[in-house]
This record gives sequence, structure tokens and C-alpha cells, in this order.
Amino acid sequence: MKILKLENVSKYYKSAETVSVGMQNVSASFDIGEFVAITGESGSGKSTLLNVISGLDGYEEGELYHYGEETSHYTISDWETYRSSYVGFVFQNYNIIDSYTVYQNVLFALEVQGYPKDKRRKRALELIDRVGLSSHKNHKASKLSGGQKQRAVLARALAKDTPIIVADEPTGNLDSESSKQVMALLHEISKDKLVIVVTHDYAQVEPYATRKIRMHDGTIVEDVELKEFEKQEQPVKLEAKKVSWLTLFKISLRNIFSTPKRTIFMLILQILVIGIFTLIFSSQVKARRELGLMDSETYPQVPETRLLVERRDGEPLSSAEIDKIKSNRNVLTVYENAHLFHNNRNLSINLLNSHHNFYVSKTDSAKILSKGDVKGELPKEINEVVVSSYYNTIKVGDVIGLAFTPIYYYGGNLEHFVEFKVVGLDKLERRTIYFSEAYLTQEIVADIDVNLYNHIRQNLKDSLYCNLEDSVGFELEYDPNATLLYDIQMIKSDESQTYVVENNVNVKFHTYYEHTSTVILEVGSVGKVEGEFYGGLIKKELLDQVLDLSMQNYVSKYKIDKNMISVEVANFRKGDNFIKSIDQTIYKVYYPANISSPLQKFMLFIQGLISGLLLVGMGFFLYAIVHAVSKNIMASRKKDFAIFRSIGTNKSALAKMVVLEQVIMNMIGFVITMIGFYFLQYRFSNIRTLLDYMKFSDYIVLVLIFLFLGVWLGLRFNKKVFNQSVIQVLTLSKEEF
Ligand code: ADP
Ligand code: MG
Repeated sequence: MKILKLENVSKYYKSAETVSVGMQNVSASFDIGEFVAITGESGSGKSTLLNVISGLDGYEEGELYHYGEETSHYTISDWETYRSSYVGFVFQNYNIIDSYTVYQNVLFALEVQGYPKDKRRKRALELIDRVGLSSHKNHKASKLSGGQKQRAVLARALAKDTPIIVADEPTGNLDSESSKQVMALLHEISKDKLVIVVTHDYAQVEPYATRKIRMHDGTIVEDVELKEFEKQEQPVKLEAKKVSWLTLFKISLRNIFSTPKRTIFMLILQILVIGIFTLIFSSQVKARRELGLMDSETYPQVPETRLLVERRDGEPLSSAEIDKIKSNRNVLTVYENAHLFHNNRNLSINLLNSHHNFYVSKTDSAKILSKGDVKGELPKEINEVVVSSYYNTIKVGDVIGLAFTPIYYYGGNLEHFVEFKVVGLDKLERRTIYFSEAYLTQEIVADIDVNLYNHIRQNLKDSLYCNLEDSVGFELEYDPNATLLYDIQMIKSDESQTYVVENNVNVKFHTYYEHTSTVILEVGSVGKVEGEFYGGLIKKELLDQVLDLSMQNYVSKYKIDKNMISVEVANFRKGDNFIKSIDQTIYKVYYPANISSPLQKFMLFIQGLISGLLLVGMGFFLYAIVHAVSKNIMASRKKDFAIFRSIGTNKSALAKMVVLEQVIMNMIGFVITMIGFYFLQYRFSNIRTLLDYMKFSDYIVLVLIFLFLGVWLGLRFNKKVFNQSVIQVLTLSKEEF
């Protein structure tokens, strides 16, 4: 049975208005071993016949039999299998992958052919040698002469190792010397194949042709056998070959690296898009992290980089325990004197010799700062600090005092309890004060708590306020020299004193300090005046009693236990991990920066919806940009894809390849972007404060998003690649791409 048989085959080219005849009622059959020359003037239907025979183009009437099997019912994928297993192509305009080397062009054909992996290299080199291109094997195809290109194409056609080789004017663009070489090569390989050569220079094929077909006006007008040919054994029916994912992956990588300019351009685009998206994504993660958090009542001054740890049994932590916590991989360092941080409410800094007083939000160790985070220096000495640049009147070199601000503070110099020199300003407006290692690890000589509480007590005394029976309120003073007749005695403004004695009344004492709640005491005697008065005096014993009670309130609320340690972590994620990694039955861990409000769940839900929409919108917007920009690039590759298909890559393999390329580019872009961010975050603390909130799982989500977008983009390109037939693409002139 003959390999090919045409019976009254007709092919028409239909366009919007016209139908033109490509060929009409062509009947002929072909056998393995033949070397067929097709001649005829231009437009006579030679290419049409060849394209139909090779399955590059369909036909309308008649029947083409392949080993006796009808092909009129063939599907696209049947034709793909047919082309990939049975037909090797040589075109007038070469159709070589310009960005590949000679070797890569040949190798590609072996790969899609499923040629044994370990023998591919050797086979490719053999074939290149056979066409005499060994010295050019690593040259890019675009750099070859026409004759060399055609020889490379021949090696590629041989690599495919198909029973049929069709060549449409293979020497049309070649000089006579190259033409001779190419024809001789074609002949050489034709021994066990069916070779069909279209030419209008019949003399070139004459020495080799076993048969001559002449066409005119779409029909065969002459078909003569010229010489005997060696009959070949019929090859068995060939199976469609599947290209493995690994091979496709290799080909995709090769495509990426064989076009460095295009790749770099695409990468820059990807990196921009991935970078922007990652920043938006992490800002959403950060927003989620900060959403619904409440200020800690007890330790309002503790930032998210610091946790407080104590033993549940109240005992101090042993140095072995502290060392163990220090070696926890989430922990930067441990400070044994947590109270040195002043974890109080209403802490403020007071610019010395000025009226400038600033609210301090958090106290932290300078260890979490890097050099790039500050203008100036990081603190080294015990009395050096870094403060936020938010306090715009504080400059490097200023001396500040730490002070407590009464809630109704109305100006004037505050008494401060420790003095520091500002050596640097935190570029971010975190309203945090950062202490030096020297300060936080100092050997505590004096009891700083006692100093501190004396200081607070003094402040309370200065701002004591009193209310009688919820009606009259006045400020209280203590005059050490006064001998008072009553426990509390009001002072009238005009000195004319008319006293009304009331015994055993409840009196409320307040201070301007928010952190000492109201004290209610029964007072034995109050000397009350009629009419106008401006304030009151209080007996020493009663004053002490009120202050003691207030201090008890204060201490029970805010005092950091001496046995409590401060654990420094780099960011919230590490803090969270630290809590999970520590034995909660032995230790009590406070994370004051992570207290959630009752509404948090609901708020997170709403925020999730909004940021989800935002991210999806942003993702599609950014990818629309990538798509618009890379559309032209993909269009310019259309020809390459058509060549891939003509060599035998089927639609699904090619689709996988395009998707893989997109995904690989995306992942390379992602990795580069992340490495970039890794280094940039040291220079730009804004980036770090965003990325600090990203968990490993967030990066996984990002990778999945980019994977999805890569696949999506790949599939969109696929549509473009496949909306035209191979021959349509291959016959398009360059300008049409
Ligand atoms: P040859 O290869 O012998 O020069 P072709 O097979 O290319 O001839 O063309 C045969 C006829 O079909 C010509 O009249 C040509 O104009 C027409 N034809 C070929 N390709 C197309 C096409 N894509 N669209 C319309 N007409 C075509
Ligand atoms: Mg032609």
C-alpha cells in the first residue's frame, strides 16, 4: 500500500468576496523511496499541493488517503499527529528559529520527537555534521547565510526522522553552489523516505529525481516516472509522541535564555508589577494585623517588638532559663530589667530648658534599629537615646528628660526623672524612644522604682483635687507649717472665714493623673466656708493616706514586676512565633501590642472583603498592563510558534510551553523582586515595616497569585498563537506580524 494517495482532491482559497482555486481534481499516489520533483509556473498550485500532502493545510473535495486511511475526517489533533510523525519540512524561507543556535534547532526536533534523552546530544551533533555545519553548531541561526540556514533546516528535518520530507523551493533563495549542496543532501537522505521537492529550476533536481510532476492552473498536466527507485519496506504506523513536562520545561527555559533582550525587558516589567503588587499586598497584611487592636491598659508603652515574660510561680527566671529564651530563634535579645523601659502611661519627653513636651507612645531597644533607620547615630552610652523624628523640634544633640505628663497638663516645665542625650532620630514617625544596650543592661545601683514612685507621688501631691458630696470641687494644698483645725479646710478668698463643720463626710480625691483612679475616703472633719473660696488645705496624715492609696492603685495597675523580663523580637511575626514556642504552663507571656478588641473579628471580615476586592482589581489591572505590553512581543513570536508546530509540537505541548514560559518568568521575577526587597528594606525602613508583617504563608499566597496570573497570561497568549493555521502564519509576510 502506498503511503499517500490523492483522489480528485481540490482546494479552494475563500476570502470575504472571492473564491480562488488552489488546485483542482488532483489525483496521484506516492511511495516511500521516491524522489519527486514538482514543477510548474508560479501560481500553478505547487505549494498548495505540497501543503495539502503535508497536512499543513486542509482540502475541500476529494480524498487524501494515508496508508489507505481516509483523512477527510481528520481532526486538528489528528493532523498534528500526522505532521509530527510523518512529515519533515523544508521551506524556501527556511523557517528556522532565529534565536536558537544550529544545535538548539536540531535538538528541539529531537526533543519534541521523544528521542531518547541520553542520545539526543550525540544524535544532534551527528546530524549537524552530516549537513556540514559542525563548525557552526553554536552559531545563532540568525547569523547564518541562506545556504547554511537551509542545511540546518535539513538537519532538523532529519532529526524528525519522518518517512516523508517535503521541500517547497528549498533553493529559491540560494546561490547556485549552495543550491547544489542542498539538493545533494536532500537526495542523500531520500534513500528510505519519500522526498517531494517543489522547484522551478528543474535542472537542479534532474540528477536525482525519480519522478517529475508538472502542474498548470491547479491541475497535474504531466506525471512521469524517470527512473526506478528502491522499494522500501512499509514503516509501521507511528504513534503520536508525548513531550514530557521536563522536556517542555527545558525548552521553555531555552526560549527564555535564547532571547536575552526580550527576557530582560519582560523581567523588568514583571519585577515592576510584582513589586508594586507585593507592596500593596503587604500593606493589606499590615492593615489586617493592626486592625481591631486595643491599647494595653497595663503596659501601654510596650511595642510589638517587645514581650514581657514572667514565671507563673512568681520566682525570678534563672540565668539558664534566660539563656534558653535568648537562644530561641525568634528572639533578638532579652533584657532582665524590664522595668528600665518605663512601661507606663503618659510617659513624655521634655526638651530641657524649654516648654516642649512630647507624648511618648512606646519604649524600645535601639537594637531593632539599623543604621539606615536613623538620622545620626545609634545610641551607645548609657545616657544616649534615639527618638522619633515626629518630634520636629528635637534635634540631634539635644538633652531631654523623661517625664510623666498629667492628663490635664497645661504647660510649663515638667519634672523629669532621667536625662538623656539625643544621638539620632528615627526616620519613621513611630513616636518611640529607643534606649542603648548600655542603659538597658546596666547594673542597677539605686532602686529606680523607688525613685520613680517618689517622683510620681510628688506629682500626685501637686495635683490633688477634691470633691465634697459631689458638689463643691477644689484643689488641695499641703502647708507643712499650718496647724489645721479640720482634716480639710477650705480657704475663702476674702479672708473672712466662716466655718461650717461637717463630720464624717465622704470625700472624693482626684489627681490630674489618669493612671491613679479616684480615691474615696471618709473624712472626719471639713472646715467649710460660706460664699466664695479658692482652694483648700489638707492635713499631713490625711494627705499621706490619700497618696498611699493612689500609689497602691498605680502600682497594682502599672508596676512591672522585678522578676519580669523583656524579650526583644524583630517584628510581630516573630513575637507571635515566640509565644507559640514557649511553654505556657511555666511562663506567663504578655504581648501588650497584641490585644484584640471584641469587634476585631467583624472588622477583619469587612477588611478582608475590601482588600480582597482591591487586590483582585489591582492584580487584573497590573496584568492588563503586562498583557498589553507583551502582546506585541508574543505576536512577534507567532512565527516561531508556527515553526514549532511544523516541527511537530502539538497544540497542547505548545500551550503548556507558553504557560510554562510565563510561569517561569513570573517566578524568576518574583525571586528577583524578593531578593531586591530583602536588600532594599535595609535602606528603606518603610519597606521593612511593610514586609515585617508578611508571614511565610503570605508569601505562599503571593506565589500562588503570580502563578495564577502567569498561567492566565499564558492561556491568553495561546489563543493568539492558535487562531491561525500553521501555514497561514508561515506564509504571512514579515510586515504582517
Ligand atoms: P505555486 O506554489 O505554484 O506558485 P500556489 O499553490 O501558491 O502556487 O497557488 C495556487 C493558486 O492559489 C494561485 O492562484 C494563488 O493565487 C492561490 N493561492 C495560494 N495561496 C492562497 C491564499 N492563501 N489565499 C488565496 N489564494 C491563494
Ligand atoms: Mg509556491
